[in-house]
Amino acid sequence: MSAAPSNAENSREPAFDVVVVGAGFAGMYMLHRLRKLGFSARVYEQGSDVGGTWYWNRYPGARCDVESMQYSYSFSEELQQEWNWSERYAPQPEILKYAQHVADRFGLRQDIVFNTRVERAEFDEGCGAWQVATSDGKTVRAQFVVLATGCLSNARMPDIKGLPDFEGNVYHTGHWPHEGVDFTNLRVGVIGTGSSAIQSVPLMAEQARHLFVFQRTPNFSIPARNAALTDEERDAVRKNYPEIRRVAREEARNGIYAEMPDRGALDDGENARRVKYEQRWAKGGLTFMMAYNNLLLDQTANDTAASFVRDKIAEIVRDPAIARCLQPDNHPIGSKRICVDTDYYAAFNRPNVTLVDIRATGVEEILPNAVRAGGQMHEIDTLVLATGFDAMTGSVAKIDIRSRDGRTLNQKWAAGPKTYLGLMSEGFPNLFIITGPGSPSVLSNMIVSIEQHVDWIADCLAFMRNHGLVSMEATPDAEEQWVAHVNEVAQMTVYPQANSWYMGANIPGKPRIFMPYIGGVGVYRRICNEVAAAGYRGFAMTARQTDRLAATS
Ligand code: FAD
Ligand code: NAP
Repeated sequence: MSAAPSNAENSREPAFDVVVVGAGFAGMYMLHRLRKLGFSARVYEQGSDVGGTWYWNRYPGARCDVESMQYSYSFSEELQQEWNWSERYAPQPEILKYAQHVADRFGLRQDIVFNTRVERAEFDEGCGAWQVATSDGKTVRAQFVVLATGCLSNARMPDIKGLPDFEGNVYHTGHWPHEGVDFTNLRVGVIGTGSSAIQSVPLMAEQARHLFVFQRTPNFSIPARNAALTDEERDAVRKNYPEIRRVAREEARNGIYAEMPDRGALDDGENARRVKYEQRWAKGGLTFMMAYNNLLLDQTANDTAASFVRDKIAEIVRDPAIARCLQPDNHPIGSKRICVDTDYYAAFNRPNVTLVDIRATGVEEILPNAVRAGGQMHEIDTLVLATGFDAMTGSVAKIDIRSRDGRTLNQKWAAGPKTYLGLMSEGFPNLFIITGPGSPSVLSNMIVSIEQHVDWIADCLAFMRNHGLVSMEATPDAEEQWVAHVNEVAQMTVYPQANSWYMGANIPGKPRIFMPYIGGVGVYRRICNEVAAAGYRGFAMTARQTDRLAATS
């Protein structure tokens, strides 16, 4: 492997050791590690700057749902000591600024090509390298490709009759205009009631003349209890960072350091349970689901938490009919990613907000100036699509990835994604995925999972270089066993009961497979480490041709 690009983009030599696709938190840290190890690398990013999720999702109210002191890189002690998060959950502009700061601080931009999509990657068996074709018409050769394309980066435009003919502006939360949107005096329709809508509805309601929220499925949401962070709070976390990060990586199932549950929901009587839920509700945030250790495993336990939240909705929303409509009743709490809000349910007490229940009919049609649902017309000036993403596989599927004999990754994944450890897919050598399907990924504090994958891949490439190995691939057996294990563990939980994007259920025609690995980030990390320690068990590795000849002569 070369230490610098050979400038041989048209020769048989790889121009880069590694091409990384995407410059979100995953691609940025991957680049940093590769450079530290002396690998030549180029990152392609279709956006005009770093930040990924936080570059694209600029809708009002966008902020993280894992506390910022934890939703941040841990790889640099200086970075985590010097950055001042302003709030418990930083808003999108601040997280984007953080990503930009990281790019500048570690000098990453020089190796990132912006405004450029990777369109195609084809494995050239002859020279054992990938030919990577980009939207600027160029092709580069790289020995390895790392897909840091993001799990929630392919915004899903709904297939609704009449949408192209709508005369007002249409905005998708995942592609929000950089200059912002002013809803003053406008009648606004929002389609969707997932996390993106739940964060933006209260703020849009403050601005719009009238807001119509079209709800197909109500979701469970927990108050964020967001607040400014004090110096004392920041210092307390900074001092304790080694332990906080260790617990998040090694012990917490979801990569979040929090008070761990020591018992199941049914181990407490009704009163004690209510006290515990009240405490968690008052504290706010995702860790509500950590009140007990069996909420995602036992339906009866889950029902107790779900019914507590339904009661809270009824307390907040004054009109009992609207409250009933907002109460989720068709999936266990937490089986879709739980939402975290600031005044979402209270927004429905405003006279300028109308909840439109489209459970029975869906949106029937979009007309040039209205949305028709349940046989009723709702006149609007502007439409907001908070309709989510083709999650986990969507951005990978958009790249034409071809291996031996022209077999594409899309063909291989036609019945659902198949990977070994979420890191590689058999038949596609030297192609890594960060937080891919089959890894804890979206079930976790994603930065913890991103750092773990990047470190594993970087260590693996260094191992290969040190051992004269040039090619690596998951074996069919290892992949088959891992896919079965991922599925088996998912079936032990309440997750598969929901029509969630975890299951691919939000995309018509997408195979219903529970995509992330639910075994927990600590368990998963140990498995990955054991695989590496056993000489990358389950991966077939090939030596350089000259080494092979030397070995046989
Ligand atoms: P991304 O940030 O999605 O970056 C991928 C990049 O790849 C994008 O910039 C994209 O443009 C680029 N790309 C994709 N395909 C190509 C291509 N073919 N060519 C070139 N470039 C390409 N997770 C949490 O843990 N906590 C949170 O609080 C949280 N909040 C979220 C809020 C929102 C609104 C959303 C949508 C997601 C949130 N997530 C959260 C998940 C979030 O996606 C991850 O935390 C993390 O930011 C993902 O980083 P990434 O680098 O893996 O992917
Ligand atoms: P989402 O959770 O997939 O929600 C999409 C919403 O749109 C759902 O309510 C869905 O209804 C609705 N919808 C989709 N197509 C529709 C159609 N044709 N007609 C009517 N309704 C339709 O997407 P998201 O809200 O963007 O969130 C995705 C994920 O991103 C989250 O789960 C989370 O992981 C992450 N995120 C996090 C935060 C945060 O708090 N930090 C904020 C935003 C996003 P159905 O449920 O009926 O399909």
